[in-house]
Amino acid sequence: MTHSRPSDPVRWRRDFPLLSQRVHGQPLIYLDNAATTQKPRVVVEAISRFYKTSNANVHRGSHALSAQATTAFEQARTTLANWLGIDDPACLIWTRGTTEAINLVAQSWGRNQLRADDLILLQQSSHHANIVPWQMLAETVGARIEVIPLQPDGDLDLEAYQLLLQKRPKLIALSHVSNALGTRYPVEQLCRLGRDAGAVTLVDGAQALPHFDIDLTRFGCDFYAFSGHKLFGPSGIGALWGRRELLEQMPPWQGGGEMIRDVSFSGTTYADLPFRFEAGTPNIEGAIGLAAAIEYLQQQDRTAMERHEQTLLQHARDCCSQLKGFRELPFGSDRVSLLSFELEGFHQQDVAHWLDRHGIAIRAGHHCAMPLMRSLGLPGSLRASFAFYNRLDEAEQLASCLDQLIQSQTTSTTVAFIEQKTSQNLIKRVYSATDWNARYQALMHIGQSLPGLPDALKQDCYRLHGCESRVWLVPALDDTGRLACQADADARILRALLALLLDRINGLTPAELLSTDLGAVLDQLDIRRHLSPSRGNGVAAIIQAIEAFARDPRG
Ligand code: PLP
Repeated sequence: MTHSRPSDPVRWRRDFPLLSQRVHGQPLIYLDNAATTQKPRVVVEAISRFYKTSNANVHRGSHALSAQATTAFEQARTTLANWLGIDDPACLIWTRGTTEAINLVAQSWGRNQLRADDLILLQQSSHHANIVPWQMLAETVGARIEVIPLQPDGDLDLEAYQLLLQKRPKLIALSHVSNALGTRYPVEQLCRLGRDAGAVTLVDGAQALPHFDIDLTRFGCDFYAFSGHKLFGPSGIGALWGRRELLEQMPPWQGGGEMIRDVSFSGTTYADLPFRFEAGTPNIEGAIGLAAAIEYLQQQDRTAMERHEQTLLQHARDCCSQLKGFRELPFGSDRVSLLSFELEGFHQQDVAHWLDRHGIAIRAGHHCAMPLMRSLGLPGSLRASFAFYNRLDEAEQLASCLDQLIQSQTTSTTVAFIEQKTSQNLIKRVYSATDWNARYQALMHIGQSLPGLPDALKQDCYRLHGCESRVWLVPALDDTGRLACQADADARILRALLALLLDRINGLTPAELLSTDLGAVLDQLDIRRHLSPSRGNGVAAIIQAIEAFARDPRG
């Protein structure tokens, strides 16, 4: 095995072509690795080589190319199995990713093994992928769900877990690492306790394997699920490992080609493991690409990588903790290189947008962990997630860019206050700005100075869905039958867009509004190009709601 020089992110970086990209004219600082990781050149080349030299369908071919593709595909399974310490590659089933792997267990094992009133234990901090499939199963079979809580410091509440175990759960679905907090849970211990209590255990390893190696033979769980794209491999591929004795009892969950032994109209018999769970043509190039990613990792010194990631995390914390209003979410006693935080006085979406304009990609929102966020009393957080290829200066730039945001808002408060009475001037500034930066500044000033809706109007009936942030629209007509709507949002950029829309529509009759192209207002300002697609969907939902009201104002 060749080891790269320890702590050599500069060298690691060179293996990842995308990291030298520029975004909005700035060098990319990619800190959204918990969402998906970048791919080393060897992965891109392995996929390209497969298509250039070996592309054919697998398993059922009767020609040389198919045999070559099948060998590469099955070799990929063996590579992953060896890496995970599995001595029986047939127990490693290809899936589209973690989500599909968990659904497979819920639908196949769960539907067959769980009965009404059986207990399923879920974890407070789990990703929706490790919650919703179990809820769907519980609804079908009438099982009950209880939740293992977290302690205030972010660690899992072991005492509460042990009490829950006394209720003899049938299935315990755990997260190895929280994607929203970064906490690494002691899953080996949790699985041992769970199995001793007679439960089957499943571990979601989506956020663990990108940071450290594991040995599944000594791990102690019954099922382990993960995704390739978080592991420096391609999207659309992942795997489920399961204990043979459980997998053998499980019926297929999807039917089709590849998974059968014999089919007739009087009945079908199924193939052996792993094929009985792999209906249809698999993601061949995905498996080959993922194996290339694993081989890449095997050639590096993963301990040095992990050490570097921890240094990055600590450095980011040191730099950010100086910032006014910076507050970390609870993260427990052990965590991977993921920083989940809030910036007091700023909506997360506004912060993420600001950072994006400076080339820094992070994630804002609930991170598909809504029950966790609700338990913390937060709508979401900002999440900077580091991989081994990130540099210390990138952590510094994150902090310095956040600082600039804080400073710019301190100065702009005065501006906004002075200009509050002349918001038309601000609106003019938005329209006359010659570049996006100037326009963005003007939008943020408007977002800050728009008078807020009284709390009494921030009701569910006025809430618009389909937006990442909370948005309220109170549609109304004045005495003369002209539009007199009010609106609010918790993200500043959306407040600004609402102000622009209200400025354009209030005072129009419904008929006049319906002949106005509101989308064109945003296009004129080139706003949609600079918004994330989900934010764009939010704006579309606002426009649709305004138009629906104009079509039927009394409805
Ligand atoms: N589990 C965790 C902890 C995750 O972070 C994610 C993705 O963010 C998933 C499950 C779902 O993974 P995928 O979308 O690749 O199926």
